[in-house]
Amino acid sequence: MSPKQVPAVGVDPYFPTHGDARYRVHRYELVLDYRPGPNRLAGSARISAVAGTSGAGSAAGPGAAGEPLREFALDLAEFRVGRVLVDGKAVHYTHRAGKLRIRPAKPLPAGAAFTVEVHYSGNPRPVRSQWGGLGWEELTDGALVASQPVGAPSWYPCNDRPADKATYLISITTPSPYTVVVGGRLLTRTTHASSTTWVFEQAAPTSSYLVTVSIGHYQTVLLTEADPAAGRVPQTAYLPARLLPEFTYDFGRQTRMMPFFESMFGRYPFGEYAVVVADEELDVPVEAQGVATFGTNHVDGTRSSERLVAHELAHQWFGNSVSIADWRHIWLNEGFAKYAEWLWSEHVGGRTAAGHAAVAHTLLSGLSQDLRLADPGKKLMFDDRLYERGGLTMHALRRALGDAAFFQMIKDWAAIHRHGVVSTAEFTAHAGQYAAGGSLDGFFDAWLWEPGLPALPL
Ligand SMILES: [Zn+2]
Repeated sequence: MSPKQVPAVGVDPYFPTHGDARYRVHRYELVLDYRPGPNRLAGSARISAVAGTSGAGSAAGPGAAGEPLREFALDLAEFRVGRVLVDGKAVHYTHRAGKLRIRPAKPLPAGAAFTVEVHYSGNPRPVRSQWGGLGWEELTDGALVASQPVGAPSWYPCNDRPADKATYLISITTPSPYTVVVGGRLLTRTTHASSTTWVFEQAAPTSSYLVTVSIGHYQTVLLTEADPAAGRVPQTAYLPARLLPEFTYDFGRQTRMMPFFESMFGRYPFGEYAVVVADEELDVPVEAQGVATFGTNHVDGTRSSERLVAHELAHQWFGNSVSIADWRHIWLNEGFAKYAEWLWSEHVGGRTAAGHAAVAHTLLSGLSQDLRLADPGKKLMFDDRLYERGGLTMHALRRALGDAAFFQMIKDWAAIHRHGVVSTAEFTAHAGQYAAGGSLDGFFDAWLWEPGLPALPL
């Protein structure tokens, strides 16, 4: 990545009240206790960060430029906040309207590493949004977290912007009958009296919205064992035991999806993959780092949701490993994931990718043409048209580049930006390098920037 291609990682234009570009987080260590009955969450977050204006100095690392940090903010919903410590010393803070503003005893020089410790407790509730509740959600008997895009502060203090990726150590103590699923590797599980503490490590850089928790009465099913010699990661499922027969059929081909997508996109980016079927209906499944969460309504014994199984798995490469600098670029996540659905369909003898593209084109032709794919605006960022046109744009790009160049381009994109942060401008510059005729500027203007639907390339 050349310096001029470094994406801006400042405040998100769609969510200007989320995140703080004046520092970067390297690691979160959360030690939490959750009681499902009263829906009570209590614990602490220890955050290791570096002071510095990441917007101006990101090419050379945080702290390359900038004033000392006199104050900074974490995003945290309505909890009772106890002590807040910076580098081990109690500090002044205010907590209002989802912002925990912290004033260190002494300004932190640009480039200085520091730690923040926040002790908090309360009844976690979803963050309200135009898409409904986001983040921590109490279930009939348990809880789950689905934060995209701005629900993470519903359960832990964070620098809530997708570009600020960090590693995580998460410890959750809850009554022993419950199973706890968090993305990453389970390090230990220890039972004392009637409670069990589950400790997970997520060693890959992770955006705050992709950190998940599921707590429920789940049966654990190992779908594929790890085989490091063959480069194979373990795949595990957690589901209500009564759904096992339907689940076994519906998710039966996921273990084949993994090598298929690896042949298309390159090596799987994380150490494991888990799917959770929460004991509740969910509008849509949702991806998290190394995990996808489905609802009971996605399991019916007829594979009717298999395209979503493919979609969520594809997000591990596109969205979770290769992450967007801010939410304007959401089509990069959803366009790739949609196109992965079509590739999978063709691979298993269903409708071809070209067939799906034709259907999507017909569908979009009949809908209003007011969505700019590369900057849809907050209101339309999860509009169905963004998904369809995103997949369609991938297919049109494949037609423009030819199969060999297109698939090489995708593989290289996933490899170059593995565990990184990207923007649409970087993608168009990258794809342009694979065009035999030189520039793709006209192509991208039409497909990404003009709302009107271009003709379907044959
Ligand atoms: Zn998606």
